[in-house]
Amino acid sequence: MRIYVAGHRGMVGSAILRRLTEQGVETITRTHAELDLADQAAVASFMQGERPDAVILAAAKVGGIHANNTYPAEFIYENLMIQTNVIHQAFRAGVERLLFLGSSCIYPREAIQPMAESELLTGLLEPTNEPYAIAKIAGIKLCESYNRQYGTDYRSIMPTNLYGPGDNFHPENSHVIPAMMRRFHEAVHDEKGEVVVWGSGKPRREFLHVDDMADASLFVMNLDRAAYTANTQPMLSHINVGSGIDVSIAELAEQMANVTGFNGRIVYDRSKPDGAPRKLMDVAQLSRLGWIANLTLPEGLKKTYRWYQTNRSTTL
Ligand code: GDP
Repeated sequence: MRIYVAGHRGMVGSAILRRLTEQGVETITRTHAELDLADQAAVASFMQGERPDAVILAAAKVGGIHANNTYPAEFIYENLMIQTNVIHQAFRAGVERLLFLGSSCIYPREAIQPMAESELLTGLLEPTNEPYAIAKIAGIKLCESYNRQYGTDYRSIMPTNLYGPGDNFHPENSHVIPAMMRRFHEAVHDEKGEVVVWGSGKPRREFLHVDDMADASLFVMNLDRAAYTANTQPMLSHINVGSGIDVSIAELAEQMANVTGFNGRIVYDRSKPDGAPRKLMDVAQLSRLGWIANLTLPEGLKKTYRWYQTNRSTTL
């Protein structure tokens, strides 16, 4: 079994690669410089040359609320190109199994909480990340359509908000956990009495450590087809992954203060967008199949903060 991990240098791809390497699985990787996944001809020749047994598609352009809102063209274009090339060329090269990684933002802004897989396309999307979400929905539909027309076994897994080692700690373009971790860390270091948190603090988010995501990805990938289809709804082509627990951004800020040892004031910048009011996954399908998250949020934050303190110089 040779598995091509697309995006192996990203936070999720690198976690998946670590897990596959531990298990002694043979992997195929290419850096961005070696293979531009937006280049159709290059992806075609790579797939024809390697003919992997399976593909894990963890390559994507990702970012937090500000990045999604500021660079919408890059988010829709790059994600559509990457996934279209990888999925179609994998099919042409005879790849039978593929795992496509999406995001919880595929669900409507006002989706019933917790969000079941069946909430897809039942309402309007959150405007701050609609272009990214539309690309990811197209990815799910690509997999579903190839399965219907060609009998492939292409599965899609939709993680909740992820965090962990290898995350992007950029002050503006990152997601909330790495952004806050950096800001709180710097406030402690620079002895500042105040930390700014974006928005009202009221939105609720669910978080999953990337090692749990890697574990869930391989669990879903390795389920035999009969078990997968028997336990998921008819025609269901995507499955949620999460911890099943959400916190408010204000609660997250308190936890971050504990983890980093910050004792000052937390202030809210209401000029910044809140985004979706709540994003909590319904993870009943995956738990029925036999997988649940391992790390709690406080444990995962502590682990990530240790990693950040050791690797800070490489994240700047
Ligand atoms: P989202 O789940 O797509 O909204 O992704 P984010 O991780 O970017 O944001 C989650 C929530 O955290 C939003 O309500 C943000 O306004 C809030 N938030 C608070 N402080 C920050 C910050 O410093 N960076 C980011 N990205 N979000 C923040």
